[in-house]
Amino acid sequence: MNRTDIRETLDEESIRLTKSLGQNLLHDQNVLRRIAKAGDLSPTDKVLEIGPGLGALTAHLLPAVSQLTAIEMDRRLEAKLRERFGEEPHFDLHHYDALKFFATGEAKDTDWSDWKLISNLPYSVASPLLVDLAGMPRGPKRLVVTLQLEVAQRLCAIPATKEYSKLTLLVGCRYEAGEMFRISPHCFFPEPRVDSACLTFHRRAKPLFDDALYPPFKTVVKRAFSQRRKMMRKNLKGGWPDDKIDAAMSATGLDVKIRAEKVTLVQFVELTQRLHDE
Ligand code: SAM
Repeated sequence: MNRTDIRETLDEESIRLTKSLGQNLLHDQNVLRRIAKAGDLSPTDKVLEIGPGLGALTAHLLPAVSQLTAIEMDRRLEAKLRERFGEEPHFDLHHYDALKFFATGEAKDTDWSDWKLISNLPYSVASPLLVDLAGMPRGPKRLVVTLQLEVAQRLCAIPATKEYSKLTLLVGCRYEAGEMFRISPHCFFPEPRVDSACLTFHRRAKPLFDDALYPPFKTVVKRAFSQRRKMMRKNLKGGWPDDKIDAAMSATGLDVKIRAEKVTLVQFVELTQRLHDE
């Protein structure tokens, strides 16, 4: 679907796109092909697509895979998608809020480890969704996500930079960031005000910790970054006895004055293990 097709379809159906649902539809066919290529698809692949919109990316993915499950929150677009792809036996469409879908109920406990998630994500949903996917013990093996460039930079950030944040760690603990490419606003209709990027993640083949350690890891990271300018030790206070915090930091080789933004992922894992030790 090029820009004209999108405009015509929306006009025919009197659909006005909704800003709050992050409805910036991709129309650049080169970019869409490049996103599909980043999925490294094979005919046996199962793919999840969040927010298929009018199906611009879906059309590139569907012929290449054995199953495509799509989740779209807008009923008007859902109807158009059913018209366009409803006859395809391996296309499965759900009308859901993707955040609720993954955070609660069946999907949360489903084994997605055999799936790839390939999506042009609604911007407001991207960060919480990626954290939820990383929080699942059996999340998708590969993520190919289009998101705001600024969010992509936070996801790939290294310690001691302003981009290094909770998001970097909560996603990075389960996924390694791979290839990234920039996408200009001109590739979307309507054009967003910011640049975008497509980023590929691979689920860590060797987990950094046991599943049971994920909830305490999340707590430690959230507390550590609760006030970025403060020393991490002060932020952690109250969560654990002071002497336990001091002992855990010292055993991890962390200076008492260090700020969270300088602590590496591996150090956060070690710190969590030590704080969690009975
Ligand atoms: N994939 C399409 C494309 O590239 O042209 C559309 C991408 S657009 C950035 C985001 C899509 O996500 C929209 O279709 C929007 O309706 C849908 N959406 C927004 N919030 C959602 C949510 N919480 N759950 C599922 N879909 C959502």
